[in-house]
Amino acid sequence: MLEADVAIVGAGAAGLSLAHRLAGAAPGPRGPSVVLLDAPPGPLRPPRRTWCFWEPGRGRFDAAVTASWQHLRVRHPAGAAVDGDIAPLRYKMLRSDDFEHLVARHLAARRTVRRLAATVDTVEDVPGGALVRFRDGDGSPRTVRARWVFDSRPPGSLPAARTTLLQHFHGWFVRTDRPAFDPRTAELMDFRTPQPGRGLSFGYVLPVGRHEALVEYTEFSPRPLTPAGYETAVRQYAEEVLRLGELQVLSTETGVIPMTDAPMPRRTGESVFRIGAAGGATRPSTGYTFAGLQRQTHAVAAALRQGRRPVPPPAHSARSRAMDAVLLRALDSGRADGPALLCRLFARVPMRRLLLFLDGRTRLHQDLAIGLRTPVGPMLRSALELPGLPRRPFDGP
Ligand SMILES: Cc1cc2nc3c(=O)[nH]c(=O)nc-3n(C[C@H](O)[C@H](O)[C@H](O)COP(=O)(O)OP(=O)(O)OC[C@H]3O[C@@H](n4cnc5c(N)ncnc54)[C@H](O)[C@@H]3O)c2cc1C
Repeated sequence: MLEADVAIVGAGAAGLSLAHRLAGAAPGPRGPSVVLLDAPPGPLRPPRRTWCFWEPGRGRFDAAVTASWQHLRVRHPAGAAVDGDIAPLRYKMLRSDDFEHLVARHLAARRTVRRLAATVDTVEDVPGGALVRFRDGDGSPRTVRARWVFDSRPPGSLPAARTTLLQHFHGWFVRTDRPAFDPRTAELMDFRTPQPGRGLSFGYVLPVGRHEALVEYTEFSPRPLTPAGYETAVRQYAEEVLRLGELQVLSTETGVIPMTDAPMPRRTGESVFRIGAAGGATRPSTGYTFAGLQRQTHAVAAALRQGRRPVPPPAHSARSRAMDAVLLRALDSGRADGPALLCRLFARVPMRRLLLFLDGRTRLHQDLAIGLRTPVGPMLRSALELPGLPRRPFDGP
């Protein structure tokens, strides 16, 4: 049986971020011994993806960042633009491949993290630690015993919630013949897309040059589209709204991120914790997860350094989650017109303030002021309705 101080299950954004922090800044074998178990290439491994997040100045993964922006834009359904300068923040784009290479180089130089290709079956508490049972690359059953286990495997099902919407999207990395993009500005939400019956939709454009960008179609709604539905939606956005002209699709990305007001358990045993999306790092109202899981893994690494019990903290405060629950309810019930609400918010609140709010870095009076910039009637009715609503299991996409 293998033994380690820490076992990390899953080497996605959360598992790799935690391993990167535990391996420490200086090369050489310091810090706790870590085993990082990740599914071998196959159906359990998530496909390549692009993570965006914002932070002031330089960050720990800057060497792998593809592009970053200080100007953001939101577009009204009729086309009017709301522009914002978010300095000193920057909106950063990190491709999962580049992130994985950066972390792999970091771990290779430190030697405290042992990586295993492993399909993990169970994680169970035992006195003084936990056992991770897995099958190795040959399918042979094996076990790791660790003092602490951090599990980032996606949960099999979503917990019961008052509201569960899905943020689902499909995007093309495109190269255009004509210089179609302004590389200084990222378009966060472009509401010139046809709106679904329930929820909302928008375009998302991350330009990395005058001829290249990630162009996505996104919905917040109860069900994903079919592959053909996404293809039509992105094509329509690229051709009829953005009028990109001749283009080549270099690659594509598709994703589904649950937006739920259900609490996600972060502790499943005395020595077993969940991190990342599985541990509630996703901000319910936006789907952004990367920054939340950085806060979690930072806190876990600090607790381990200081010899404290390393329970991952909530990535989002109770106040943020309560405000998000109201917004999700207002959107899902159709009481609030999503595009109008979000355009109004972006027009009336400085974008930098909204981004700080989404990271939980604003004070109570600032949060209340943001709440007052939304349509107060529908939001208030949704807030009053919430305590009486049952939490229902999500019946799946
Ligand atoms: C396409 C896409 C784009 C996104 N873009 C953004 C964005 O721009 N900004 C943002 O903040 N968030 C974004 N998100 C949301 C979120 O950041 C990501 O889902 C992120 O990958 C979550 O990290 P994670 O480590 O929690 O989970 P994952 O990255 O999904 O990692 C889970 C890991 O568990 C492993 N695993 C699964 N089962 C087993 C098993 N049985 N045994 C061993 N290992 C196993 C997998 O191999 C994987 O490595 C995006 C999500 C998607 C799907």
